Amino acid sequence: MAVPTVTTSHPNKLKTANLGFPRMGQQRELKFALEGFWSGKRSAEDLALTAKTLRAEHWLLQRAAGIDFIPSNDFSLYDQVLDALVLIGATPERFGAGPVTLDRYFAMARNSQEQTAMEMTKWFDTNYHYLVPEWSAGITFQVDTTKILCEVREARALGIETRPVLIGPLTLLLLGKGVDGLDRLTLLPKAITAYREVLAQLNAECVDWVQIDEPILATDLPDGAADAFRTAYAALTKSPVKLMLTTYFDAIGDNLPLAVSLGTAGIHVDTVRAPEQLTPVVAALNATQVLSVGCVEGRNIWLTNFSHASSLLSAAVAALGAHRVIVAPSSSLLHVPQNLRGESKLPARLRGWLRFAEEKIAEVVALASFDSDAGAANAVAIADREAAETTVNPAVRSQLAALVASDFSRAIPYADRTAIQRAELGLPLFPTTTIGSFPQTANVRKHRAAHKHGHETTEEYEAFLRSAIEDCVRQQESIGLDVLVHGEFERNDMVEYFAAFLDGFTFTENGWVQSYGSRCVKPPIIYGDVARPEPMTVKWTEYARSLTSRPMKGMLTGPITILQWSFVRNDIPRQQTAWQIALALRDEVRDLEAAGIRIIQVDEPALREGLPLRRADWDRYLGWAVDAFKLATSGVDNATQIHTHMCYCEFDDILPSIAALDADVISMETARSQMELLEAFRAYGYPNEIGPGVYDIHSPRVPGTAEMTRLLDLALQVLKPEQIWVNPDCGLKTRGWDETMHALRNMCQAALHLRSSSQVM
Ligand code: GLN
Ligand code: ZN
Repeated sequence: MAVPTVTTSHPNKLKTANLGFPRMGQQRELKFALEGFWSGKRSAEDLALTAKTLRAEHWLLQRAAGIDFIPSNDFSLYDQVLDALVLIGATPERFGAGPVTLDRYFAMARNSQEQTAMEMTKWFDTNYHYLVPEWSAGITFQVDTTKILCEVREARALGIETRPVLIGPLTLLLLGKGVDGLDRLTLLPKAITAYREVLAQLNAECVDWVQIDEPILATDLPDGAADAFRTAYAALTKSPVKLMLTTYFDAIGDNLPLAVSLGTAGIHVDTVRAPEQLTPVVAALNATQVLSVGCVEGRNIWLTNFSHASSLLSAAVAALGAHRVIVAPSSSLLHVPQNLRGESKLPARLRGWLRFAEEKIAEVVALASFDSDAGAANAVAIADREAAETTVNPAVRSQLAALVASDFSRAIPYADRTAIQRAELGLPLFPTTTIGSFPQTANVRKHRAAHKHGHETTEEYEAFLRSAIEDCVRQQESIGLDVLVHGEFERNDMVEYFAAFLDGFTFTENGWVQSYGSRCVKPPIIYGDVARPEPMTVKWTEYARSLTSRPMKGMLTGPITILQWSFVRNDIPRQQTAWQIALALRDEVRDLEAAGIRIIQVDEPALREGLPLRRADWDRYLGWAVDAFKLATSGVDNATQIHTHMCYCEFDDILPSIAALDADVISMETARSQMELLEAFRAYGYPNEIGPGVYDIHSPRVPGTAEMTRLLDLALQVLKPEQIWVNPDCGLKTRGWDETMHALRNMCQAALHLRSSSQVM
């Protein structure tokens, strides 16, 4: 592949920026420091020192790599949104007032016996979770720049001038929830005053540029937001501090005229998710605005195609001049692991296609200098990836190409299936079941670790699993549950377990990414076509079935959840990968059925997470996502009952798609919201069976029978008795056995009450 000709036309290196660096540390030092502090084993000074050391390391390595605009205030002890609230002094009133101490900071972030923490939700469509601001009418704003100024000074002491990162006022307001229905934008005047004060203090500190993140501009703005943007930035741009208005994760789209009109000194756009926006953005900029081109993907682990990125940069330079173009990652690098040095086991060829945070920074620098050696090396790596036979599985490709409409639907409609299934399964009214996992005790984890590290033979480990399954079955029988499960003791994680069986997936040793607080995940990497060489769950499910005369439910993770919680390939559409996973699961479902499992649950908690940021793109996604589920589940006999399970979020607005899954039974998280969700199911006229969770599994609290009966009565007001299943909100893996037994007994009692008082009996 030819080296881009722009090499000679831009002898001057472009300026480079980074938008945020992963903060955990190569060895997850921050995680261990935090957890040590929380458990009382490490002092606050110790935690502060670890944090300071990490920040220094990260700044120094960015400088050494040649980044011009190095971020500060991208570091956080827990969450950058919480930090933003502390900065403007708008933390929720229920945690007290005055300067935020370390204890109060963590009280807002983490549940304790005394107090429920702030709510957590996903940061746009990433797997990072932020703490949701609580906007109440009386909230006061009290600026506290301690953290941000401290970071600016710390870096300066190392000889590094940084570009501090702020979450912009509109993104911060709109990502929060209005308490008691408060219109969040009514707080705008207070927010503007606070942000002006922050900028004034940064100016006094001689800060030149600030990165002001407004990713909300890449979404459909609610009413009033555009005006609020204009009002806010008319005030903020009065500051001598230059603002880099930063957007990411999607195109600015119809918000482009607004974004440009705000008059910030620069704009950052994501040209990985939305390369087509470069031309309109360049055309729209005013005569002095600087453009930061996010052309190295900040949230996935693949190498950049330099030829594509360079042509975008060349187009920007041709229109604006080199002095007005900055090269950057598309978003903060928070969403990728720190570096590839920690990986000794990755296949060498695959490794050549991967770039983690540090390697991405090197890409930014190489792109900015139009370095011909780097360009040539990149072209070789890109060509190698394109040519690799290991990523293509011809059998899978032809299977996909041969799919027909009937592969995506059950043979007969639910209304006809249900009678057959009732006869087959012989279940009572209000059948009781669980969501799959039973307590993953220290003992279970100990055996898994011993097996993983070779201290326990496979025979020993499997003997242990069989005994755990047998215990679990006996306990469920003694509780009186109607549909049993094997307990999922063999699974460490609902995605990793399956990924380990599937072709096309690989794992890192140290590829940790922050999920929230000190919690990190190590997502599998999907690098090639997905196929299932052998059954994944049949052995354990079949064993469990052999132990009891009651129906045994098989448990699988759905195609969208496996897709969403992995790093996905970027060389084929996500839809194709989802359908490949679905085909693998379809074989698993059929094998379970052949082994005598007549109820199979395919969990899709992440269905909603995959939604694009813009409404206009929802239908396309939902179409192929629903098809993936149906492809996985529709290959069974009419008498085989398909369940699904969803949790973590609201589903009201995607109900038609949930109905389109055509699962015979869906279990959902509803206990904490007092069955609120069911009203939507009623209004929609949801036809199939539903198991609304009757107890919250997130706490050790054991709900009484009366409480669960009351919830079921609420359900009965909106659903037909034949539609209702009785189950907890989610899996029980984080609970202890005692509380689990107690709660499930109460739950079965509640079902018995309902049966005896039900007129339909
Ligand atoms: N079957 C899984 C379990 O019970 C479901 C987990 C989930 O919904 N997150 O653990
Ligand atoms: Zn769940």
